[in-house]
Amino acid sequence: VKTAGRHGYRFFTPEMHARAQRNLQLVNALRQALDREQFHVYYQPQADIHTGQVIGAEALLRWRHPEFGMVSPAEFIPVAEDSGLILPIGEWVLQTAVRQAKSWLEQGLGPLTMAVNLSAVQFGHPALPELVSRILAEEGLPPEYLELELTEGVSMQNPEAAIAVMNNLHQRGVRMSIDDFGTGYSSLSYLKKFKVYKLKIDQSFVRDITTDSEDKAIVSAVISLANSLGLRTIAEGVETLEQQAFLREQGCQEIQGYLFGKPMPSEQFEVFLRQRVVD
Ligand code: C2E
Ligand code: CA
Ligand code: CA
Ligand code: CA
Repeated sequence: VKTAGRHGYRFFTPEMHARAQRNLQLVNALRQALDREQFHVYYQPQADIHTGQVIGAEALLRWRHPEFGMVSPAEFIPVAEDSGLILPIGEWVLQTAVRQAKSWLEQGLGPLTMAVNLSAVQFGHPALPELVSRILAEEGLPPEYLELELTEGVSMQNPEAAIAVMNNLHQRGVRMSIDDFGTGYSSLSYLKKFKVYKLKIDQSFVRDITTDSEDKAIVSAVISLANSLGLRTIAEGVETLEQQAFLREQGCQEIQGYLFGKPMPSEQFEVFLRQRVVD
């Protein structure tokens, strides 16, 4: 209720009260969301930038609340992280996405890698590597089909611990990519020590890539850095053919974005895949 200020106190303002109230409401609603089956996983295609072939999907969580409507993950993921609810929710996403990947593999709609976002709380949990292996075994998916997306912040908070967890997951055959690359504070020297498979170029750099010379420079530097370290690159938020052409010229291997396909429910993703298999 009180922090900082002259005597170490600051008054709790009405706006803060409203925000805290909304937060509390959100936490309570989140707590029930799993049981009430309000969560859904959407899948967004990831494609080979040269052939246009779909080579993977990113699993993106959706929450449909009966009163609030569709709540953006940008709003509820931080709340889930602070409340610890991200652990059961994240486990559900992982299991759902892995099961889906297995189903597509069995239907011959692949090979597709399934990228799943991991929050720092999940990554820092000691049972994570065991959990990942257990889910892969339960669903019968070979580990090389799973890719875990981590943000730079996750790995930089405690680099030594992150290296140990990544080594562990790597030994289990799971791939890791760095999400939103370029927005955090990566130390490039750590990139060498991390068992990273792919860099995901943040959409904030991609947006003005065809007009902004600084964004151009950053993106081409990231791609050449990745290439010289033997890492793959994927650009996210690709919306235009011009952006795609520039990225291809620079040596980026994969794209994800509205140009290619929006995040969609699994049934729609399957239709999308089957249409593309024909030609
Ligand atoms: P992210 O991992 O960076 O995901 C990419 C976001 O960009 C997604 O937003 C996606 O819908 C959006 N996007 C994709 N293509 C385009 C495009 O061409 N243009 C534009 N403007 N946007 C595009 P979304 O689904 O709202 O997710 C927001 C963030 O929430 C994600 O950012 C991720 O950090 C987090 N998130 C989503 N699902 C999960 C999850 O299951 N677990 C965790 N820990 N975080 C998640
Ligand atoms: Ca992501
Ligand atoms: Ca991202
Ligand atoms: Ca992002």
